[in-house]
Amino acid sequence: MKSIYGIKKSDLEEYFISIGEKKFKATQVYEWVYRKKVLSFDEMTNISKDIREKLKKDFTFNKINIVKKQEDDLVKKYLFELNDGNKVESVLMYHDYGLSICISSQIGCNMGCSFCESGRLKKVRNLTSDEMLLQVLMVEEDVNTRISHVVVMGIGEPFDNYDNFMDFIRIINDPYGMAIGSRHITVSTSGIVPRIYDFMNENIGVNLAISLHAPNDKIRSNIMKINKVYKINEIIKAVKEYISKTNRRVTFEYILIEDINDSEECANELVKLIKGINCYINLIPYNETNNIGYKRPDKTKIMKFYDTLKKNNINVTIRKEFGSKVSAACGQLRSESEGK
Ligand code: SAH
Ligand code: SF4
Repeated sequence: MKSIYGIKKSDLEEYFISIGEKKFKATQVYEWVYRKKVLSFDEMTNISKDIREKLKKDFTFNKINIVKKQEDDLVKKYLFELNDGNKVESVLMYHDYGLSICISSQIGCNMGCSFCESGRLKKVRNLTSDEMLLQVLMVEEDVNTRISHVVVMGIGEPFDNYDNFMDFIRIINDPYGMAIGSRHITVSTSGIVPRIYDFMNENIGVNLAISLHAPNDKIRSNIMKINKVYKINEIIKAVKEYISKTNRRVTFEYILIEDINDSEECANELVKLIKGINCYINLIPYNETNNIGYKRPDKTKIMKFYDTLKKNNINVTIRKEFGSKVSAACGQLRSESEGK
């Protein structure tokens, strides 16, 4: 049986047509599920009893369980247990502009970036669209406040789970679903180039962030295995095409790791690489973890890197320090809870 969460509206419309009903019933079901947040078909009072019985045979209301929570003033971090016992995490952040949630897209990750906790666990499986969606719904229910922004930057590589990820995006973006505007949704990828082109053609206006983390192939291949498959110049080419086709700015994420990619030469090389591209650079001071030896550079070094970019008229920001107190970097809660 399928979960009613995680079904795209167009698929639900087809379902209704296949059982001889009008397709607008899909919109009605969406409103019950995502607006009124009912948990049973019997509560859908504008849908006839016959149809409700059919729906009950074909769909369930899936659930995932919160098994651990860590919080401070601005961050709440959730560990979820899925129906098959696997665990994933989400992080809720309180901003002045609203609540944003960072969700996971896979159990583990096969990209194997050397600095990342998530990649220490090989991919067990992809998350389904409903498991991605339920992270948002469950956290929203937990804090009883509307979540306005969604970022797909938790555990996993969303572009390695492209179809489920896109279904998820279509559902949260649907005006009768969660109605989260595309400008309020961001996806981050380690740079799976063919999927950047696919994403460019989706015509959806969701923000794209690329985990660059190095200004040249030598350093990048050392810390990100994926760079052996898709080199920096292929990423840059795809990004340029993406920008010209979508008219949207792209964000490059750049983690600063001591003595790996934080030198003055790296900053200058980065400037050369992205000069003239309509992009932002988001500098992320490395979040140290117990299991990986990398260090965060000191403040002076971070500021120096920032200043070099700034002086060269690059749009650059330093990521606000959110969850380091509750170890909110990618994958850390899960690996702590499993004692790894
Ligand atoms: N797989 C995707 C999305 C999830 S990772 C990607 O790699 O883009 C989200 C971001 O967190 C990536 O930019 C990743 O490089 C970064 N990240 C991973 N571990 C980190 C750490 N310990 N400190 C800071 N950022 C980290
Ligand atoms: Fe996977 Fe992203 Fe972590 Fe790399 S940084 S291992 S792609 S989750």
